[in-house]
Amino acid sequence: MISVKWGRPFRSLYTKLFLIIFSTGILLFVGVGSIYFHAVREGGIGIWREHAALYLNHLIDEIGSPPNLAVARQFTEQTNLGIRYQNPEREWFTAEEIPTFKQAQKWTWRERSGVRFGWWRGTMVMAVEREQDAFVFIQLYPEGTGFETFWAFVMLGGVVLILSGTYATLRWLFRPLRDLSRGVELISAGDLEYRVPEYRKDQFGRLSEAFNRMTRRIQHMITARERLLLDVSHELRSPLTRMKVALEFLPDSEVRNNVTHDVDEMETMVTGILENARLHSEYGKLNLSEFNLAPLLQEVVTEFRDQPPGVHLTALPPTLLLTVDAEQTRIVLKNLLTNALKYSTPESAPVDVRVQTDEQQTVIEVADHGVGITQDNQAFIFEPFYRTDSSRTKTTGGYGLGLSLCKTIMEAHQGTISVISEPGCGSVFRVGFPSKHDSLAS
Ligand code: ADP
Repeated sequence: MISVKWGRPFRSLYTKLFLIIFSTGILLFVGVGSIYFHAVREGGIGIWREHAALYLNHLIDEIGSPPNLAVARQFTEQTNLGIRYQNPEREWFTAEEIPTFKQAQKWTWRERSGVRFGWWRGTMVMAVEREQDAFVFIQLYPEGTGFETFWAFVMLGGVVLILSGTYATLRWLFRPLRDLSRGVELISAGDLEYRVPEYRKDQFGRLSEAFNRMTRRIQHMITARERLLLDVSHELRSPLTRMKVALEFLPDSEVRNNVTHDVDEMETMVTGILENARLHSEYGKLNLSEFNLAPLLQEVVTEFRDQPPGVHLTALPPTLLLTVDAEQTRIVLKNLLTNALKYSTPESAPVDVRVQTDEQQTVIEVADHGVGITQDNQAFIFEPFYRTDSSRTKTTGGYGLGLSLCKTIMEAHQGTISVISEPGCGSVFRVGFPSKHDSLAS
């Protein structure tokens, strides 16, 4: 399940690249724009300012001395140029929005022929001082000629469109990366058949190709190793049987007992390997039938009850009807109980066996209060031949095949097997059988 967390979008590669491209765009725009403005346009604007200064000086002369408001109003009407006049005794203006001379002084910083040029509230402002008289001119925009809301939306829409296009292109560009990360996930979960789609000829395409080559080689190596193990196990069966028969004819002695014990262990190991392989192969079909698991569970528990620290069976319903392979299920239960007792001490509390059923599945829990398993080891104990360091050094017997066989059997039943464990406190192994077995039974 994908969990949505704050900050998650910012961890995404696409978002980072998108932000980089976006900020680069803005920096380029501002940087190149200001260089262009200062180096190229300023030259042209300088000439324009010269003309404007000449015009304004003529305009002030036309307005007369003392300046005439009626003439100024006429100019404003004709040219949309707002005029404010200030003198210690008198002040008038042709439009209210014209700033005072003091305000205009603050916003004007270029000067040509006695006229100061600048910007005030998004419009051009010009200020002229002649002895006691001060004039301020601004460009007026009559209703409807300004920057309309419609164009603001068009601009916004354009920006959103360009940004979405960039984001979509980035996602398309990095699609092979998503495929690769899915491939890594599936292959690390054991699906060595998975191949990453190869549809590009760029670096990602080559990476996908190399990845698939690597997976094929690993798959080949694993298959060869399994094949070898199986062949050896198979070949060992006949000499083992011959040795067992030969041992029967030897006189009873300590040496004979030791060798018999060793041969038995080897046989268990070989049987485990072959059984595991059989269940994985197409010939390893389960012998399924509708079965009442309750008496079988009771029987297995009784078998182990007397071994220290003992076994408790709780919450067992009288009937536990499931479609299972009874013999294989018996192997699972026996293996789990053997381990639970093996990895407990005689002083530990007894092992608990619990049953829970609901609509979806029937769960059997085997909970011990023994040595427990570290978090690191929990990920591997279901692998064949895996034994934790502590069990390898102890004489607890076993070859690390029991749990792997349990896993194979449970998978063949389309069931589950899992463990929750705390070192020093004990472990709970849970096996879940699906309540409905339609696909298996067919
Ligand atoms: P083994 O024959 O070595 O017990 P298994 O496949 O049954 O092989 O178990 C693999 C390893 O998992 C064991 O070697 C042991 O370290 C660990 N293990 C299994 N069951 C338990 C348990 N109930 N408590 C602690 N460790 C366990």
